[in-house]
Amino acid sequence: MIRPGKMIKQVIQSFFKKPATLLYPYVKEATLKSFRGKMKFYPEKCIGCKMCMRDCPSGAINVKKVGEKQFEIEIDLGKCIYCGQCADSCLKKAIEVGNEFELAVLDREKLKVTYRGKPQEGTGDKA
Ligand code: SF4
Ligand code: SF4
Repeated sequence: MIRPGKMIKQVIQSFFKKPATLLYPYVKEATLKSFRGKMKFYPEKCIGCKMCMRDCPSGAINVKKVGEKQFEIEIDLGKCIYCGQCADSCLKKAIEVGNEFELAVLDREKLKVTYRGKPQEGTGDKA
């Protein structure tokens, strides 16, 4: 048990300390380097080998051929466990672990993200 004298000292000291809490979402802090968020895709590097699809432990990736030497991938962010295996398996470095994590949506279908030429971050629309 803290003695009242010591407690008063701690209370006074706390007035002059910076708050321990973060002001998120008003102030955004940088994520750690090792953080694993939404994947990024670089279609110009993809050769359509489907190693990412085969190695994905949750079956979240689908690779589609959309033209001569052109591929797009669909990732179901609702299934993805953000393990980063797809990025590790891709020998062409066409998939990279991103740091985007604010991915909540009301419609589960919007979690199926198709990555096309641009933007690399992927879009939820199916057009
Ligand atoms: S993203 Fe990488 S692993 Fe997946 S199909 Fe393309 S080249 Fe192969
Ligand atoms: S991060 Fe893991 S679970 Fe998500 S798509 Fe890549 S391999 Fe699959």
